[in-house]
Amino acid sequence: MNVLVLNCGSSTVKFQIIATDLDRIAQDADERLARGLVERIGGEAIITFEAAGVEARRSTAPVRDTRAAVETIIRWVTSEGSGIGAVKSVADVHAVGHRVVHGGERFTHSVAITDDVLRGIEDCIELAPLHNPANIRGIQAAREVFGAGLPQVAVFDTAFHQTLPDYAYLYALPYQWYRRHRIRRYGFHGTSHRYVAYRYRKLRGIEREGTNVITLHLGNGCSAAAIRAGDSVDTSMGLTPLEGLVMGTRSGDIDPAIGDFIAAKEGLTAQEVDSVLNKQSGLMGISGLTNDMRELLDESRESGDRRARLAIEIFCYRVSKYVGAYLAAMGGADAVVFTGGIGENSPEIRARVCERLAWMGVGLDAALNESHTDRREGVISREGSRLLVYVIPTDEELLIARDTVRSVRGVPQRY
Ligand code: ADP
Repeated sequence: MNVLVLNCGSSTVKFQIIATDLDRIAQDADERLARGLVERIGGEAIITFEAAGVEARRSTAPVRDTRAAVETIIRWVTSEGSGIGAVKSVADVHAVGHRVVHGGERFTHSVAITDDVLRGIEDCIELAPLHNPANIRGIQAAREVFGAGLPQVAVFDTAFHQTLPDYAYLYALPYQWYRRHRIRRYGFHGTSHRYVAYRYRKLRGIEREGTNVITLHLGNGCSAAAIRAGDSVDTSMGLTPLEGLVMGTRSGDIDPAIGDFIAAKEGLTAQEVDSVLNKQSGLMGISGLTNDMRELLDESRESGDRRARLAIEIFCYRVSKYVGAYLAAMGGADAVVFTGGIGENSPEIRARVCERLAWMGVGLDAALNESHTDRREGVISREGSRLLVYVIPTDEELLIARDTVRSVRGVPQRY
């Protein structure tokens, strides 16, 4: 089956086409046929297309809305010049898998999209006002472009974390806030945490039930997950993706009283404070320079910039603190897994996080750590380390494609 994987944001549509099926999944022989991105939808869009064995192509064109973006993608995919032999017409796309950010408490697994499911995703809009509407536009656009008969599947960022126990997902707030307004920890990046936990058990040749691991997704957004016996039992993002680790522009954990305090001091509205916490804090806020970890590392190396160094230190400190907390939360773990742009590519950040765990006997093999970049996966801890340390490049799209196939074929999903 050729599965179109769509990740629709407010002004972007990312896509991949993955050829997969039950036998391909069993043999780990899924094939990525194409990928690309339409950015700045609503104006003169920037379009990037890439197919296996063909040079990446970048162009600009006016793209009005999500539907026009999906049409642009399909026009290219089915064109002669795309180099994708397997997709010659719309009929060669057999299913669409969507990344959907918020599934609330209803969606604990990926599901085939029906009108009722669509209503369920709409019900979660108040929990993810920026993301779910864009995801819904993507679903509707695909319906219009491919027809209502084409199977579409929703894969939720929150679903993997629905196994959290109540004492981990509830905040110590008036209980009726949970009952009335569903205020609780949901967690995000679930598809990424689930994927790397799955790869970890494949690499080690162990069963899901024996998978006890702390996964660290360190990208622009950052989150940690405690995975016990294959299930997520705690995670650092909360009601929204703002909680937890220090991120590119998000603060992560702060004293909730800071909001009111700074609003009064600087005459900010609640929305303005929220915007600063989400868009001008984290690495960006501390350094005053950039939200980009690579630039911060360069800056601190080349000019010794004090605030760049501090931003990196606070980032690593917070990650190691969460590892410590999760070891207690899950009664010990076998491994820590690094993923996301920073986790996959920065030996320095991995080393600095793990140095803080040296007291408990965690140690890296310096050469292995250095050599695991550019999507190389494997173990980087030294012989005898109390915790194994892995680098596993994430691949949410692959999992979305596989969930889509399983849903269409009517077989149970593996979580
Ligand atoms: P997103 O969360 O938007 O998907 P990514 O997972 O691509 O983002 O992560 C982006 C982050 O990864 C940026 O901070 C970027 O600087 C960082 N990054 C990418 N390559 C490296 C590298 N070689 N060293 C350090 N950080 C890197």
